[in-house]
Amino acid sequence: LTSERYPSLKRGPFAALNDTHVAAFQKILSADRILTDPDDVAPYNVDWIKTCCGQSRIVLRPRTTEELSAVMRICTEHRLAVCPQGGNTGLVGGSVPVFDEVIISTSLMNKINHIDPIAGTASCQAGVVLEKLESALEPEGLMIPYDLGARGSCQIGGNISTCAGGLRLLRYGSMQANTLGVEAVLADGTILNMMNSLKKDNTGYHLRQLFIGSEGTLGIVTQAVIQCPIRPKSTNLAFLSLNSFKDVLSTFVLAKRSLSETLSSCEMMDSACVTSVEEKLGIKCPLENSADSFFMIVETQGSREDHDAEKMSNFVQEAMAKELVVDGITANEPSRMANLWQLRERITESLSKDDYIFKYDITLPLAKFYEAVEVLRRELAPFGNEAKVTGFGHIGDGNLHLNVTASQYSEKLAKAIEPFVFEWTAGVGGSISAEHGMGFKKAKYLKYGKSPEAIKLMRNIKNSMDPLGILNPYKVLPPS
Ligand code: FAD
Repeated sequence: LTSERYPSLKRGPFAALNDTHVAAFQKILSADRILTDPDDVAPYNVDWIKTCCGQSRIVLRPRTTEELSAVMRICTEHRLAVCPQGGNTGLVGGSVPVFDEVIISTSLMNKINHIDPIAGTASCQAGVVLEKLESALEPEGLMIPYDLGARGSCQIGGNISTCAGGLRLLRYGSMQANTLGVEAVLADGTILNMMNSLKKDNTGYHLRQLFIGSEGTLGIVTQAVIQCPIRPKSTNLAFLSLNSFKDVLSTFVLAKRSLSETLSSCEMMDSACVTSVEEKLGIKCPLENSADSFFMIVETQGSREDHDAEKMSNFVQEAMAKELVVDGITANEPSRMANLWQLRERITESLSKDDYIFKYDITLPLAKFYEAVEVLRRELAPFGNEAKVTGFGHIGDGNLHLNVTASQYSEKLAKAIEPFVFEWTAGVGGSISAEHGMGFKKAKYLKYGKSPEAIKLMRNIKNSMDPLGILNPYKVLPPS
């Protein structure tokens, strides 16, 4: 349990749930939308990679903004702490309670309000699952400007609150750029409607940005408007094997030059990650995988099938002629591409299958990208086989997912990794959180990502928007 692992962490001055609170919630939500049976509540207390576990006794499942607002009014009145939860696929312990916070699940706020095919926008409630919105956009010839391996479970509100990055940020930009409008409920129940569909709106402070990436600590996102690009007519993919990380970098540069505006994704995996997917999930890598191999997925999206396929084929041939790539295959048939994507998308699942996983999501200058894996391997050498260091990630965005797997959690290993990994990352000019956020696990290391002045301003913003500190306490900001 989290409280056992972090004995020095003190529960905040919040009320403990009692029958009066439950009775107040029952006046707002029907019985089937208030979960108190421990068996029903249990899955909401545990995060996706099963490294954090809270002890909440209640899950509330509102359907509308007004219901959520009424719930928050009660929580403020009684000073009950809350933990907003979307699809619970977050990887930094932000989506589950630390102690006994009331879990507010947005899963039933799952209505798509409106798709505007002319403006290219989608308006929906926060609980809409990413894949569901993507399917609704397809007949309109539109797509969501981002994509994640967790698409089948993660929700739009969760994506906004974590400022999710994903597989296509390289091409379509960040959540900050693509979220046009937001509606949020504040700690005291105030409904803040900023459901703008406009691309340009410079009417003073860009308040919606406060909710993008603040991980449920400033308000609960209830609705949003997302900018949606035209769905590409053709998608092409190359799966490549390479001999060294230096060749990965040269191939990325070549991909940018030769595929230019069609390049939609550029991902890399080391041999150990691909071996893990092969061994733990039984998915076969179609290219030879030796211990020092690297692999890349390069994807293009465009509007002319023959032209785009030829462009991809020319790129692969050139990379092979220059001896950057050992072997490669191309595909443009959807099921074939989906199979190849599994070798990248299911790495986290395979690494966490039997083992405890220490996960780091960092941005690095590209020249230092894989050095992070090598440096950490050296640092953890005394642990031998008990600590396996692997790396994969969004090379196109300089975003490395650095992992240490071990048969079980060990305090000694944790101390050898942290804060070393954050100090090293900050020291080379990187970011200690590229896209997953700070959540609970990284909150105490915020000083490696923000100056004291910036942290003070963050605290001031938090105090002014949530003076009782009831919204997702212990997350993002370090204990004061
Ligand atoms: P949750 O996990 O439920 O919550 C995440 C955080 O947001 C928590 O702090 C929670 O309190 C808060 N929150 C959730 N909903 C709301 C709301 N409506 N209002 C306010 N706060 C809220 N992430 C990436 O960025 N890029 C990737 O490529 C990527 N790939 C992944 C692949 C896999 C297999 C998995 C399991 C995860 C991956 N993630 C990735 C991490 C995760 O999917 C994202 O962070 C996602 O955006 C979380 O959405 P969610 O709905 O599951 O949110």
